[in-house]
Amino acid sequence: MPVIECRHCGKSIQYHCIRDIPAFPFCCERCKLLDLGAWLDGRHAISEPLSDRVEPPQGHEGPRKPRGDTRRHP
Ligand SMILES: [Zn+2]
Repeated sequence: MPVIECRHCGKSIQYHCIRDIPAFPFCCERCKLLDLGAWLDGRHAISEPLSDRVEPPQGHEGPRKPRGDTRRHP
């Protein structure tokens, strides 16, 4: 009888047919959803380091005087 381990909790699952495990390769639907959630969280965690570049605050462009340039040429 083949045995697999749940990808999420590591629980051994014996089965006669792969159809015996609706949530394959997980032992149950709950593990399937939990693992999927963890995977999605991992993706978000990986994307975080990309934001290492500190963007300047929006107020940075405040001192600029767009109207001052036009007044130089009366
Ligand atoms: Zn499981």
